[in-house]
Amino acid sequence: MTDPILLTPGPLTTSTQTRSAMLVDWGSWDRAFNDMTASVCRDLVAIVNAQADHVCVPLQGSGTFAVEAALGTLVPRGAKVLVPDNGSYCKRMVRILRYIGREAVVLPHGEQEPADPARIDAALAADSAITHVAQVHCETGTGILNPLAQIAAVVAGRGRGLVIDAMSSYGAIPIDARSLRFDALIAASGKCLEGVPGMGFIIARQKTLEASAGNTYSLAMDLLDQWQYMQKTGQWRFTPPTHVLAALRAAIDQYQAQGGLPARLARYTENCRALVAGMRALGLRTFLPDALQAPIIVTFHSPPDPSYDFTEFYRQVRERGFVLYPGKLTAVDTFRVGCIGAIDAGTIRKAVAAVADSLRDMGVRRLAHE
Ligand SMILES: *Cc1c(COP(=O)(O)O)cnc(C)c1O
Repeated sequence: MTDPILLTPGPLTTSTQTRSAMLVDWGSWDRAFNDMTASVCRDLVAIVNAQADHVCVPLQGSGTFAVEAALGTLVPRGAKVLVPDNGSYCKRMVRILRYIGREAVVLPHGEQEPADPARIDAALAADSAITHVAQVHCETGTGILNPLAQIAAVVAGRGRGLVIDAMSSYGAIPIDARSLRFDALIAASGKCLEGVPGMGFIIARQKTLEASAGNTYSLAMDLLDQWQYMQKTGQWRFTPPTHVLAALRAAIDQYQAQGGLPARLARYTENCRALVAGMRALGLRTFLPDALQAPIIVTFHSPPDPSYDFTEFYRQVRERGFVLYPGKLTAVDTFRVGCIGAIDAGTIRKAVAAVADSLRDMGVRRLAHE
């Protein structure tokens, strides 16, 4: 049997070339390995045009580790952080802030409502004690795209700091540091760059990073220490994720050879179109209107048929070679399908056919509410 296609937003389907790059054991003192770290960091900064004022700090762990490290290192003790909340990853930032003892102010939104720059502006105007905004770019919980450029303009206009969770958008949806001001932009190896999971990275404003000594409670999560050590030695503090980095190097090489961000965005947009069109043709409904949908992950309403059950649906679709993702919404029953990874629209159409066959075999007839 062939490997399943992961229609999940990390881990995701990687290319054979990327996986093959992991067949070497690197030593952490190896000059070639340290050069590879430096070259990856240079490319990661360049992807968002941040060479002038920012540096890249890579960090071992999944994306959440990098979010926690960014908030803990770059947001001082005594700070107050506004979190516009329209989904589960926004709520995760709030949890992190509470864990690390930073005051969080939640600005609640509906899950079908993009973060509202006007409401953010009003919240900042109303409370001068708010020092930072922590914003998720693409909220992977639903697939909604938040208007990052407008939000960044509002935050800069009010002279506050901005920390962006761009985990599921970085590399596919344009973010330009020359026109968009931020203190930290966080992403990871195993999302739109199509590497394997295992390392996050923070594109940090150098001045903010240099002024962050003493902010964090945590040695392992101290980005300033990680960056300074790397500056001094070229090495990672503590054991580096060598194979993950080698795979990321290969993934970025392919990203560049394929045409960089515009090409990636075009492929994901095609994937998303094929997915939504195919699922709608079966009778399924998307949770979000098309205008709010990022081409990263799509949330679908579960069929309201008594024969439908996600666990069985997952099993059936998995048997046909595709891995789906459960929904992450509290109020409505949904499931999610990712558009990202080393896949094209042809693969997506096969996945839609697998969904159709699975639902038919389960006896699911009613696919949507009238
Ligand atoms: C994937 C993701 C994260 C990080 O999740 P991990 O499971 O820790 O990798 C954070 N924010 C968003 C928006 C994500 O999509």
